[in-house]
Amino acid sequence: MSISQNLNNIKSSLPSHVTLVAVSKTKPVSDLMEAYNAGQRIFGENKIQEMTEKWEQMPKDIEWHMIGHVQTNKVKYMAQFVSLIHGVDSLKLLQEINKQAAKNNRTIDCLLQVYIAEEESKFGLDEKELEEILKQLSEAAQSPDNEFKNIRITGLMGMATFTENQDQIKKEFQNLKAIFDKYKELKTENCQLTTISMGMSGDYQPAIECGSTMIRVGSSIFGTR
Ligand SMILES: *Cc1c(COP(=O)(O)O)cnc(C)c1O
Repeated sequence: MSISQNLNNIKSSLPSHVTLVAVSKTKPVSDLMEAYNAGQRIFGENKIQEMTEKWEQMPKDIEWHMIGHVQTNKVKYMAQFVSLIHGVDSLKLLQEINKQAAKNNRTIDCLLQVYIAEEESKFGLDEKELEEILKQLSEAAQSPDNEFKNIRITGLMGMATFTENQDQIKKEFQNLKAIFDKYKELKTENCQLTTISMGMSGDYQPAIECGSTMIRVGSSIFGTR
């Protein structure tokens, strides 16, 4: 099936509160344009350089989401245009995003990545670290010179273990949803959780059942990488 058919099939099955991020990493601009011409306007990339090259070549009404791990020294290359950074997992990174956003007179939306999988991973916050970051942000928001006024935490992101075990996948997504629910009442100038980014090609259906509001789908749209 073609990219546009894949896209339309997925979109027609999604509840209206779920946003589809088309994950186009490693794919050529011609593939992205096929999705664009079928109406897709949100693309996800995991490498800043690749995303920047595609942004330069493609129509400017696209929302670019950074879904990969972000190195602090590369934030400056995407600060001018990135719409949402999914994988934020440290205060140091937030400071740099804030600084680069300020230089560009922007506010950049970010999701905090929470570690929910059973398998070993270097990325993501545990619940304690998440709580600590949210605390620091709300303290900053109360000070007259809020040092985080050019970022906004709009939600959480998580990845389930890569497994066939549906019960385990659901348990991990439910865990992220429970953490989200615990903090969603928190409303400060730089933080209000409304988005749960969870679910990829292999597990977006259980993710939606567990409360996902944003899915990141690559191979089911563009084919295997
Ligand atoms: C690659 C990637 C995806 C998309 O994966 P598919 O299995 O191709 O849908 C989603 N999220 C992240 C963080 C990724 O790196």
